[in-house]
Amino acid sequence: MATLTKKDIKLTRTETSKLSTVDFNNLAFGQVFSDHMLTCDYKDGKWQLPEIVPYSPITLDPSAKIFHYGQSIFEGMKAYKDSNNDVFMFRPLENVKRLNISAKRLAIPEVPEDYFLEGLKALLEVEKDWIPTNEGSSLYIRPFIFASGKGFHASPADEYKFIICTAPSGAYFSGKVNVLIEETYSRSANGGVGFAKAGGNYAGQFYPTQLAKAKGYQQVIWTDDTTHEFIEEAGAMNVFIRINDTLLTSPVSDRILDGITRKSILQLAEAEGIKTEVRKVKVSELVEASKNGSLKEMFGAGTAAVISPISGFGFRGEDFEIPEQDQSFASQLKQRIINIQTNKTEDPFGWRVKL
Ligand SMILES: *Cc1c(COP(=O)(O)O)cnc(C)c1O
Repeated sequence: MATLTKKDIKLTRTETSKLSTVDFNNLAFGQVFSDHMLTCDYKDGKWQLPEIVPYSPITLDPSAKIFHYGQSIFEGMKAYKDSNNDVFMFRPLENVKRLNISAKRLAIPEVPEDYFLEGLKALLEVEKDWIPTNEGSSLYIRPFIFASGKGFHASPADEYKFIICTAPSGAYFSGKVNVLIEETYSRSANGGVGFAKAGGNYAGQFYPTQLAKAKGYQQVIWTDDTTHEFIEEAGAMNVFIRINDTLLTSPVSDRILDGITRKSILQLAEAEGIKTEVRKVKVSELVEASKNGSLKEMFGAGTAAVISPISGFGFRGEDFEIPEQDQSFASQLKQRIINIQTNKTEDPFGWRVKL
């Protein structure tokens, strides 16, 4: 197959850049968007050539299947700029592969890997000045695909749009979160779409999360849908538990998303001499560990926040606090991963990809 090159990607530049209106010292997360986006249409049975166009609203037919049947998937990744103005991505091929795993499950046609990767590189070249350099900040990248094809018939659409937008973002800092262990609602089920980054997975999480918030928690810990005995994810992040000096995380499954941060943390921890175990963790084990003092840390892992520490959890009306650690695995691993992402240290794993 002929691979796509930069020359194949048509570029239409904006006439009115918003760059000068953005305060790079006060960036929220994913609130301002850069000047351009990559768009690529699927029609007549194939993906057409991607183009870079000014960031702008999209017009869709009211019968577009995204609105009715929810064929929609996305990815989340980041680009970083170092002090030499070199631009880096973090394990981008993993996002390409996962997007296509999600696509397959949602009956969406897979995107050629080079359309995504070369398209993204071309977009980053154009948006280079939008990549923040302040400590902890980055250009958040949101690739997504949705069904734009028309018709109320409940079947896969015949047309799709693949778009990549970017948003310069400050450090994602939410503070420590208090979480509620959820035993009524489920994020995902056996045989379902939990392993895919499907928009609908998020829609289904909002209501139980609202209920948890009303009770004073910031986030939900999802348990398995059958028994609710096993810990699966923390909101839309993978979850890690430190018992004594061992770092535990659940194996991925068709209910648990295969997070790139999760697998990077596992590799990094091993390299740092931290003992890791990938195995199912029971809620009762967590409660027991909290009671006997062996529960040292708990944190979520995902691209946006990298690592999000958990201060305590609620379970069946009881609250359990996780004591502050002087030298937490969370801060050690977060710093290691950010240093690799931003080219501050060497990258023994070959994760960084220079633009
Ligand atoms: C995106 C996501 C994650 C984290 O994946 P990363 O690749 O680390 O960003 C974890 N769980 C769910 C449900 C997600 O949607």
